[in-house]
Amino acid sequence: MRILLASSEVHPYSKTGGLADMVGALAKYLAQAGQQVGVVTPLYSGIRERFPHLRPGDIRITLPLGSRHVQADVWTLEVADRLVIYFIDQPDFYRRATLYQHQGVDYPDNAERFLFLSKCVAHLARNLPWKPELVHVHDWQVGLVPLFIRHQRLEEGWVDAPKTCLTIHNQAYQGHFGADAYEWANLPLDYFEPNGVEFYGGLNCLKAGIVYADRITTVSPRYAREITTEALGNGLDGVLRLRQGVLAGILNGVDYDEWNTTDNPFLKHSFAADSLEGKATSKLDLQRELGLPEASHLPLFGTVTRLVEQKGVDIQLSALEEMLAAEMQFVLLGSGESQYEKAYKKLSARYPTKVAVKIGYDHGLSHRIEAGCDFYLMPSKFEPCGLNQLYSLRYGTIPIVRATGGLDDSIIDLAEDVERATGIKFAEYSSSALVKAIRKGLILFEHSDLLLHLRTNGMSADFSWEKTAQKYLKLFDKILSE
Ligand code: ADP
Repeated sequence: MRILLASSEVHPYSKTGGLADMVGALAKYLAQAGQQVGVVTPLYSGIRERFPHLRPGDIRITLPLGSRHVQADVWTLEVADRLVIYFIDQPDFYRRATLYQHQGVDYPDNAERFLFLSKCVAHLARNLPWKPELVHVHDWQVGLVPLFIRHQRLEEGWVDAPKTCLTIHNQAYQGHFGADAYEWANLPLDYFEPNGVEFYGGLNCLKAGIVYADRITTVSPRYAREITTEALGNGLDGVLRLRQGVLAGILNGVDYDEWNTTDNPFLKHSFAADSLEGKATSKLDLQRELGLPEASHLPLFGTVTRLVEQKGVDIQLSALEEMLAAEMQFVLLGSGESQYEKAYKKLSARYPTKVAVKIGYDHGLSHRIEAGCDFYLMPSKFEPCGLNQLYSLRYGTIPIVRATGGLDDSIIDLAEDVERATGIKFAEYSSSALVKAIRKGLILFEHSDLLLHLRTNGMSADFSWEKTAQKYLKLFDKILSE
């Protein structure tokens, strides 16, 4: 199969969240399964320096964007057999240190930046010599690609145009712009209507993908159901219900080549389910690294996250206020909205021996938190898939999660199945429900046999990408045969 993926972020080149991890891993495992794979993504600042093997390609693209023409060069990186990354070099749009925002505010030209990216994807799909037969786009930034392809097939003689698939990683982010942004699509007005890309008078890039892609997936089965409901549909539930027949949920995998505890450059001590000494030492190391008293007898809770409402920051802050009277420690690595950053810093100033907070983005520390903690807190309001709870399982860190989206699909609570339990789940979105769940964690910590049982179950759970990639391949087969 010949598959072209497109995403505004791809690990290890650029990342703000799980989208990058997912696309990077999917591409790698599809290629390993013998498929021909390309990935289109922007060339942001710093990528060329970090990946000196990047080659200036001989592809130069000039495309209309509203009333002007914009040029880009395509740099390529052959990562492995059958896997090439195509970086779109358009310095005005992408040579920026951060991907979408500056100091918490979206770049004012995001519509132009990502409509241009989407046009480049369609252009490459049409002109690459290996002729992709399926284009798989991820999230709103490339949501218009299925429409560009369809339009060129219907109106511009692209007879063997590829099939398209959209994966929604988070329906809360839709790329909803004013109507004037549609000008940059250079498409007839026919598509700008309620059954097309129009949404409350503006342009909605995710809706474009939902309406025009041949198939739609999202990153967990439960989230696939949730986004068709008013409660979690973010206004697009009606459109999705119309397309429910082509919507499926596939739980993300974990790239165990990177997220493992036995061969990991970010961890000083290796450990495994049958030899946990390295985990105990990792805990002491983490406490020291973050300035907390080194104490193996204190239960250590951790979180690595974007600090946004979705992640349940408000209930976590008030639950911690209540719980910190207990003998426990908490560490947080995160960045995001300044009100939340300030609130966590304040908490650590008030409880310097119990709470350590690092504001910022630190890949290595995220591994060390996963390895060093006893419990991982993820009280999300909603969670399409969530990756950290899956990383926690492999690192022997017991997830305490709210039963929503992929969190519910991936974690088994003691009350559901004692034999197979891997974590603690709570249902209600409230700090009191989270407090109860944390209390369960404290009790579990006192019962070392049960703690070990959950830990061992989690560490041996298999969320490998090999399995997930097979599910995508099965779906792609179906799309191509339709
Ligand atoms: P989302 O994509 O909604 O942010 P996910 O759980 O799907 O949530 O993925 C988050 C990914 O981003 C994980 O790999 C996590 O470790 C990483 N991450 C989030 N914040 C940080 C941070 N401050 N430093 C390092 N890694 C982070």
